[in-house]
Amino acid sequence: MNTARPIVLCLSGHDPSGGAGLQADIEAIMAQGCHAAPTVTALTVQNSVDVLDFRVLDPEWVFAQARAVTSDLTIAAVKLGMLGSLEMVDTVAEILRGLPNIPIVCDPVLRAGGGGALGKDEVGYAMRERLLPLASFATPNLPEARILAELPEGTADQCAEKLLPYCQNLLITGGHGDEQEVHNRLYSRDGSSKTFTCDRLPGSYHGSGCTLASALAGRLALGEDAATAVEAALAYTWRTLRDADHPGKGQHFPRRL
Ligand code: PLP
Repeated sequence: MNTARPIVLCLSGHDPSGGAGLQADIEAIMAQGCHAAPTVTALTVQNSVDVLDFRVLDPEWVFAQARAVTSDLTIAAVKLGMLGSLEMVDTVAEILRGLPNIPIVCDPVLRAGGGGALGKDEVGYAMRERLLPLASFATPNLPEARILAELPEGTADQCAEKLLPYCQNLLITGGHGDEQEVHNRLYSRDGSSKTFTCDRLPGSYHGSGCTLASALAGRLALGEDAATAVEAALAYTWRTLRDADHPGKGQHFPRRL
């Protein structure tokens, strides 16, 4: 009997503070009862306060990591995080074409939680054109959705209308606003939409987007349907923020395990 946990291939950047990036992915995926296989796309220099620098890996290194993993392990879902360059978007698109018919969650990372840039807006447009059509889910927060949709003042509904032609399911999170309630909105290609509401927690968090997208990928790897997986991933993420640590001088770190 094979009792192995479902494996989620992560293609994301490394954050040496451990609050976001691949470490967030690994922890959130483990917490769903899955195994994370982390392929590094980029290295960052940052802490809980700010991003100081980042460097995108050579495509050959990313191909080689992914090839080594996919030639050996059975991948149940893929989670995409920081890619950092147009070249890395193309590299990842090619890797994904070798992995048909599995759920793919694309977190279109362009900024760190503290606001520091992790990729130019053009990287977001390339993700929209080349990766969203391959993904089952995109999980932008509202500021990211506005960049991807090229609607600087757009509402979530307006951004969704512009972005749904590119991807099957869009989960636009509302954590970056200041209303007392956070509205996370799930839009699907079949025209349905659902709003998940939760109380806003005080504080600002580093790695909340990584946590949510990875938990969602884990839930999909377990075989849950889209709405069930989204609900479970949002509830898990909210708990990690409620229980967050404040280890440094900047943002809080979600407590994922
Ligand atoms: N990926 C990497 C490598 C990062 O360093 C960060 C933030 O610092 C993110 C993704 C996105 O972070 P968040 O989940 O706070 O949006």
